Amino acid sequence: TRASGPPRNVSARVAPLGSRLVLALVEDRTRERRVEAVRRDFVANVSHELKTPVGAIKLLAEAVQDAADDPEAVQRFATRMLTESDRLSHLVQQVIDLSRLQGDEPLESPDVVDLDQVIAVGVDTSAIDAGAKDIKVLVEGRPGITVLGNEEQVSAAVANLVANAVHYSDPGSKVLVRTEVVDGFVEISVVDQGIGIPTDEIDRIFERFYRVDPARHRSTGGTGLGLSIVKHVAATHGGEVRVWSVEGQGSTFTLTLPLHTSYDEALPQEPVPA
Ligand code: ADP
Repeated sequence: TRASGPPRNVSARVAPLGSRLVLALVEDRTRERRVEAVRRDFVANVSHELKTPVGAIKLLAEAVQDAADDPEAVQRFATRMLTESDRLSHLVQQVIDLSRLQGDEPLESPDVVDLDQVIAVGVDTSAIDAGAKDIKVLVEGRPGITVLGNEEQVSAAVANLVANAVHYSDPGSKVLVRTEVVDGFVEISVVDQGIGIPTDEIDRIFERFYRVDPARHRSTGGTGLGLSIVKHVAATHGGEVRVWSVEGQGSTFTLTLPLHTSYDEALPQEPVPA
């Protein structure tokens, strides 16, 4: 039994006020319960995800204590501790980003955001990982495009897409970040030649904590939150995110954002070569 009464009681109480009001109240309560369930789920998931790196750091610290007279082993454990603490801070940062975005409320006072800058930050964030895998990240498109939005959020979204493209690609491949202007919107596509996504998983990858076959890429240490952040950034900016992918061939993620109007008006008729 639940503490709060079932919807039937609500309808009985307010029935004389009209069936529309009853329906609205019942829908409201259902929505509230759903939001609450999602929130509880999220907290449980976060706690579970936090336990993994924290547990690993504890074990490694104990291993360091036991290996005090073996400097090589100490070095090895310390390096792994650093990796785990990086993973922990990445997870905490993503949870913070997500909690700021979850309402999908439109931005109250958007700024003019320079896409060149945002893409440079996004590419830069993955520079070390890309370099380690000899992956070239190329940028293509008309420079000088601006959108109305929150620079930090748009940068986080682009950085997540580029990071995924690099993570889920084989060494030596290419990643392309392309911008195109289409009907008052700018489309930022991140194209990779990586492992791709199975068709029956594509609908789920934007869910929080969802990862395609986590065992397959455990070594990448992802959180399953990146695409959820991208989806919420798109929503708060009045845009959308789409994905096209062929398993074994690669993926293209396209983030669509409304153009900054003054730029839209100033657009030349023909695209200028980049
Ligand atoms: P993660 O931290 O696991 O990368 P995301 O939310 O960013 O979390 O992505 C969810 C899942 O979608 C990933 O675990 C991966 O299975 C899949 N995915 C995301 N981007 C790509 C990509 N570019 N290529 C292949 N699979 C991807």
